[in-house]
Amino acid sequence: KTFSDLGICEQLVEACERLGWKNPSKIQAEAIPHALEGKDLIGLAQTGSGKTGAFALPIIQALLESPQAFFACVLSPTRELAIQIAEQFEALGSTIGLKSAVLVGGVDMMQQALKIGKRPHIIVATPGRLVDHLSNTKGFSLRTLKYLVLDEADRLLNEDFEKSLDEILNVIPRERRTYLFSATMTKKVRKLQRACLRNPVKIEA
Ligand code: AMP
Repeated sequence: KTFSDLGICEQLVEACERLGWKNPSKIQAEAIPHALEGKDLIGLAQTGSGKTGAFALPIIQALLESPQAFFACVLSPTRELAIQIAEQFEALGSTIGLKSAVLVGGVDMMQQALKIGKRPHIIVATPGRLVDHLSNTKGFSLRTLKYLVLDEADRLLNEDFEKSLDEILNVIPRERRTYLFSATMTKKVRKLQRACLRNPVKIEA
């Protein structure tokens, strides 16, 4: 199968080609058609499976249809992963003017606030720093968010992020799509799934 077969638009198929992505990975082939139908997703997948593309492509395609700032938020357990995710969004969206902001700890809040001021389409964040910005950065809210991605959900729940995660879930719209990716399906992940997702489709890498 090709990306076109999955329903990906020509513009994004070309973006994939520029990155050397000729064919979808297994998780992409399974996830993308459901995502384009508007379903919530649970993906059991590790890093290296192409999971970032599996959620980034449907999100960018939806963004192309109705462009707006603060369209999607991806939560990641680590800075390094957050940076890699933002890089993939930027690479796929380079010709359409996609803007992203990475909000992670260990970086100056003011510098990140300036990025927020540019009204990015995509926020990639660790939960603690996102909460810091939601409470301290003037004019920043996720009230218009359309997509939430919980990446490496098992690790998001392991590392003292639970309180921040609760706070974030309380301030984002219920009317949204949610994609949860995890390497393992633990009790806590299942609980998060029940709290956050609506009739999700489950896929495996
Ligand atoms: P991920 O599992 O999302 O961290 O992706 C792992 C690596 O695979 C990244 O370097 C991606 O650029 C690359 N990748 C993702 N999808 C594809 C694809 N369909 N074909 C070739 N490489 C890909």
